[in-house]
Amino acid sequence: MSGRRPEGREAKIVDAHVHLLPERLAAKIRRFFTDRGAPPMPYPHAPEQARRALEAAGIARCWSLPYAHRPGVAAGLNRWMAKTFAADRFVVPGATVHPGDDVETVVREAVEELHLSIFKLHCSVGSFGPDDPRLEPLWRRSSDEGWPTTVHAGSAATGAATDLEIAAVGRVAVRFPRARIIVAHCGAPAIRAALELLRRHEHIYADLCPVVADPAPLKRRDIAGVERKILFGSDTPSVAVRIEESIARVKAWGLDAAQEAAILGGNARALLDRRETMAPRKDDSEPGSSGE
Ligand SMILES: [Zn+2]
Repeated sequence: MSGRRPEGREAKIVDAHVHLLPERLAAKIRRFFTDRGAPPMPYPHAPEQARRALEAAGIARCWSLPYAHRPGVAAGLNRWMAKTFAADRFVVPGATVHPGDDVETVVREAVEELHLSIFKLHCSVGSFGPDDPRLEPLWRRSSDEGWPTTVHAGSAATGAATDLEIAAVGRVAVRFPRARIIVAHCGAPAIRAALELLRRHEHIYADLCPVVADPAPLKRRDIAGVERKILFGSDTPSVAVRIEESIARVKAWGLDAAQEAAILGGNARALLDRRETMAPRKDDSEPGSSGE
């Protein structure tokens, strides 16, 4: 294609919050939404089709985040993620754990054997709080090794979070100040509390995912000073807002080019690059296999 930008290359968009999941699980999740009368979701739930929608919308790379509704399922899900996306440059596969699991063992396998780079916790689906003490082995390793964890802090079935639930994320940050925590949906509708955490804690971030049909209600001035801690996310396919519309909302802020590129991809890339330098793979027999 013609039309090179003056700076020489098109900024690559990283979608830091999508769910490319095993077909059966994806169908169950879709049913959860339709049973509750959620607005129509434009993207098919099957992982191959959801992936195609992301590519068609101009996404260059995505983080696929699994989550566990009960103890005993995370390890299998993590293995599926690692196997399915091992050779896939488009998808950064994530891991999950449930506080009712043997957290230390599940996390160790995900990090050391499966080489997964991101964790996801989903408090409402798994019925636990962000500061559940059983998650300590996760936060300890995350602090030492630098990989990020995306936390959906709300306990409501609607996906909404409260100020109190966001405060629980803050307690984790106080105990584990070096753990990288990404507050999913920017804590919507408790956005003020979430932004306050970003300002107070060096390693707390937020993503911009809509909550089903509601885009994160953020204005340009809300994120002033924390532009390097905001990650673009679309929540595909569990969303009723089109990916292009979510991208357009970021562009409508009229940020300077560097800040806009950071939110649309640079901030997510920096989080993973840091992980690569902090935690070199034990198995060094695969040269050139690290991320971008
Ligand atoms: Zn999500």
